Amino acid sequence: MNLGVVVAIDGPAGAGKSTIAKALADDLGLEYLDTGAMYRGVTFEVLKRGLEATDVDAVGRVAREIHFTQTRNTLSVNGVDATAAIRTPAVDAAVSHVAANSAVRDELRKRQRQWISEHGGGVVEGRDIGSVVFPDATLKVYLVATPMVRAQRRVAQHGGDVVEIARAIAERDERDSTRSDSPLRQMPDAVVVDTSDRSVAEVIAEIRALLAARQPQGST
Ligand code: C5P
Repeated sequence: MNLGVVVAIDGPAGAGKSTIAKALADDLGLEYLDTGAMYRGVTFEVLKRGLEATDVDAVGRVAREIHFTQTRNTLSVNGVDATAAIRTPAVDAAVSHVAANSAVRDELRKRQRQWISEHGGGVVEGRDIGSVVFPDATLKVYLVATPMVRAQRRVAQHGGDVVEIARAIAERDERDSTRSDSPLRQMPDAVVVDTSDRSVAEVIAEIRALLAARQPQGST
């Protein structure tokens, strides 16, 4: 099966994954998939039903039964537009517990691979794309930025107190990096790109150059 170009964009919260992945997809004329939105969507439904994020069996069932309609910038969960609701502090606080659940990961991984095969590739952002979901990606990028820059970006997007946000991000990164099932980690074959002091255009130019070097001449 020819899956075309797959670019995996992984990294911790606030490193610039969404901004860079969307801009890169536009630039390359590829589709874009936000896998974090899927974990957030399951979390939204779990909280809506009054379940505990740590209730492994119940949360696993929610993931298997959930219906998503996902576009580039929106997510509907079981027919309800959850685009804004998946970005609330309550979902931020619970999502890494839901994401540590192997039944959830098995189900979402399956849907992500299906998406890649249906779309013939794309730019996919997450935590485990280059390590687990698509280890044969054409290019694996691991985005990083300093903790202060990451917290400031979140405050600029969603408001809040920078010290509080920095602490919440650090807690989420800790849980995402230490879980046993597909933890956030930098793969040896991933290229680390620091977005702290650079413009989107500069980062995109660097990734495009890396991608060009990996593709045979004449291919797109
Ligand atoms: O990228 P975003 O911050 O929206 O992701 C929300 C959460 O979803 C992450 O903190 C992580 O717990 C989980 N996630 C994951 N694997 C992915 C994408 C996101 O575990 N591929």
